[in-house]
Amino acid sequence: MYTLTPPKFDYKRASSVEEACKLLAATDGTKVIAGGQSLLVAMRLRLASPAVLVDIGHISGLGNISEEGMGLNIGATCTHSKLARSKEVMERFPILCEAAARVGDEQVRNRGTIGGSISHADPAGNYAPVLTALNAKIALVSASNRRTIAASNFFEGPYTTVLNGDELVEKVILEKKPSSGTREGHSFMKFSTMPQEFATVNVASIVAIKDGKFEEVTVALGALLPKPRIMAELGESLMGKAASAENIRQASQELHLGSEIISDYKASAQYRTHIAKVLVARSLLTAVNRATGAE
Ligand SMILES: Cc1cc2nc3c(=O)[nH]c(=O)nc-3n(C[C@H](O)[C@H](O)[C@H](O)COP(=O)(O)OP(=O)(O)OC[C@H]3O[C@@H](n4cnc5c(N)ncnc54)[C@H](O)[C@@H]3O)c2cc1C
Repeated sequence: MYTLTPPKFDYKRASSVEEACKLLAATDGTKVIAGGQSLLVAMRLRLASPAVLVDIGHISGLGNISEEGMGLNIGATCTHSKLARSKEVMERFPILCEAAARVGDEQVRNRGTIGGSISHADPAGNYAPVLTALNAKIALVSASNRRTIAASNFFEGPYTTVLNGDELVEKVILEKKPSSGTREGHSFMKFSTMPQEFATVNVASIVAIKDGKFEEVTVALGALLPKPRIMAELGESLMGKAASAENIRQASQELHLGSEIISDYKASAQYRTHIAKVLVARSLLTAVNRATGAE
């Protein structure tokens, strides 16, 4: 049943990460709220009924983007809008700006956060395949512990991550390798039935090209599988080959997705498989064109 008002809850506003962690550890049934764009919907649908909400949206500095060597740290409460417009992110990890800009509509992008998005772990979310393809790390903190986990190990399935009930996502860590003389390109693509809707299929492609040949190919698919997956076979099949449209088309047609493909009211598994092959080919070609300067 969808009601306009969420169930009753206590509200506490944390002014530091330490305070938020203490509040989370103090009472069972306590949940963090960041942008509220997914949690409040879940509460109105009575899919979540937290006794206490700890608001982390006002913690100073928690939404900052900061340089770390050649990489970047992105604070958990960084909004999709801020990420989409960040010059630092655009220079180093443009694929993340592309994914942030394609989240929902402007209102959602102005309130919703990267930490909230990955913690919520909607399988159709934009960031999961991108962070997996970028080999990002996610820093978690609780009152008694700190740990860092690879994005590829963070997502466990639909709406499920490795986060413990008393843990917070503090930041996303993106490392950048020094350039090895290759030309790099990227592309995030999302297919949805309406432009501002969640994806039916989404894909993150990152390529490196040297002398016209693939030196690196990473393709991560999302929204059609319970959690994002790197298409390792596809990458291996293209390595060392000419970065041509024909090679890309052929490799995409041979994509093996296994039996876990989501089938729901939006799209059948068969339709999603077809879309995935088309979207992978388009996104790889766009990444190649960006690497070679053709786009
Ligand atoms: C109309 C609409 C369209 C949307 N379209 C898209 C889309 O196309 N693509 C897409 O990716 N997303 C989409 N979203 C979701 C959007 O990205 C949300 O912003 C995001 O899922 C949740 O972020 P939030 O900050 O609002 O989190 P909240 O709603 O505040 O929290 C969500 C969950 O994460 C937990 N949480 C929040 N922050 C943390 C943290 N730092 N550490 C630990 N747990 C935390 C909360 O306890 C809660 O369980 C859409 C949402 C709406 C309403």
